[in-house]
Amino acid sequence: MSTSAPSLAAPALREGAFGNAVELVCRECGTTRELGPHYVCAECFGPLEIRYDFPAITREQIAAGPNNIWRYKALLPVPDDIELSPNLEPGFTRLLKADNLAAELGLKNLWVKDDSTNPTNSFKDRVVACALSAAREFGSKVFACPSTGNLANAVAAAGARAGIKTVVFIPSNLETPKQVNSAVYTENLVAVDGNYDDVNKLASEIAGEQDGWAFVNVNVRPFYAEGSKTLGYEIAEQLGWRLPDQIVIPVASGSQLTKVHKSFKELIALGLVEDKPYKVFGAQATGCSPVSEAFREGWDVVRPVRPDTIAKSLAIGNPADGVYVLDICRETGGAIADISDDEVRDAIVLLARTEGIFTETAGGTTVGVLKKLVETGQLDPELETVVINTGHGLKTLDAVTDLVGPAATIAPTYEAFVASGIA
Ligand SMILES: *Cc1c(COP(=O)(O)O)cnc(C)c1O
Ligand SMILES: [Zn+2]
Repeated sequence: MSTSAPSLAAPALREGAFGNAVELVCRECGTTRELGPHYVCAECFGPLEIRYDFPAITREQIAAGPNNIWRYKALLPVPDDIELSPNLEPGFTRLLKADNLAAELGLKNLWVKDDSTNPTNSFKDRVVACALSAAREFGSKVFACPSTGNLANAVAAAGARAGIKTVVFIPSNLETPKQVNSAVYTENLVAVDGNYDDVNKLASEIAGEQDGWAFVNVNVRPFYAEGSKTLGYEIAEQLGWRLPDQIVIPVASGSQLTKVHKSFKELIALGLVEDKPYKVFGAQATGCSPVSEAFREGWDVVRPVRPDTIAKSLAIGNPADGVYVLDICRETGGAIADISDDEVRDAIVLLARTEGIFTETAGGTTVGVLKKLVETGQLDPELETVVINTGHGLKTLDAVTDLVGPAATIAPTYEAFVASGIA
């Protein structure tokens, strides 16, 4: 019996369909498997990830590429002609020196990697671009996902541009802007009465029954996940081919955090950056903090929780990569912490008023956790630190509508303005 998703027919892959990727390897037992629409190990059901055989790759070669994630195509499971296929061309977002926020938090040297400016306003455009390439090479008929919101936006938009049918599944209680941001691109937005973990389970079942459906974060997950590496490559390149000392990353499934770490290790192995220690920190909202809890308690396992937080894009109660996040944060000397919903709201306003960046609740979580880590002494304020903003505030307006608004509502007269006391 095959343990791969039966949803995708055995593909006749073209030569070079996955670039320098050579096989899939089990994270748990190391068993290898040929590249294909597989995501679990046939021996132990562990998660599969991509293994590469990299040629020599130079900084100049990368710098000569386009100003999007395909400048790193030699490091991704995509064909060399990837730029010829229509996609959203995400990436190469701003890395901003955040001196005002740094001063506010008592940090010496802080950067914000601002991924809110991707085509559908979250970092998910990166992973979806890689999943789309795989789906295309597998000859998939439908491009689909279970989503906490942003992923559905990215899948719906990328599928529209690629001319492939999309079906996206979300929890029915999702914020209206995130629903509209999917529905505008696809006729097939399916709202499921349940939380993300219910939606994910349903998607796995559909993937097992329907032929030719590429669920980006289910049966093509190994290819999807590699897209997050580009965040790490960009940060290193934008710092002048250097790694930061500390990095703070939000944790939903934990995929992004594990892949940013993988990207740093690859850059070191390829000699593209100097080998140096760096600490990886994870951020969660208290209402969905199973990985933070495991870190605090010293557990080796992550106990699933029922999410209840305004940080809905991070509301995964049973995170697939949770244990790997624990390993990485412990190994590198980092930590994982969580903050309350009120602290998330305050951090959204703090980032906006110090740096002019409007982040969604996930970014509020990450910035708020950065603040907490400084206060608890877990993060060294003297060291160079990068914090990742993964999404845009316009998608979660409700989170701050009670905190901000007009300072005064006045008659259209000069007297009324003077009386308001604003000048
Ligand atoms: C999906 C998402 C994340 C984290 O994703 P992982 O599942 O941990 O890779 C972070 N921020 C935003 C805004 C997201 O949409
Ligand atoms: Zn295995």
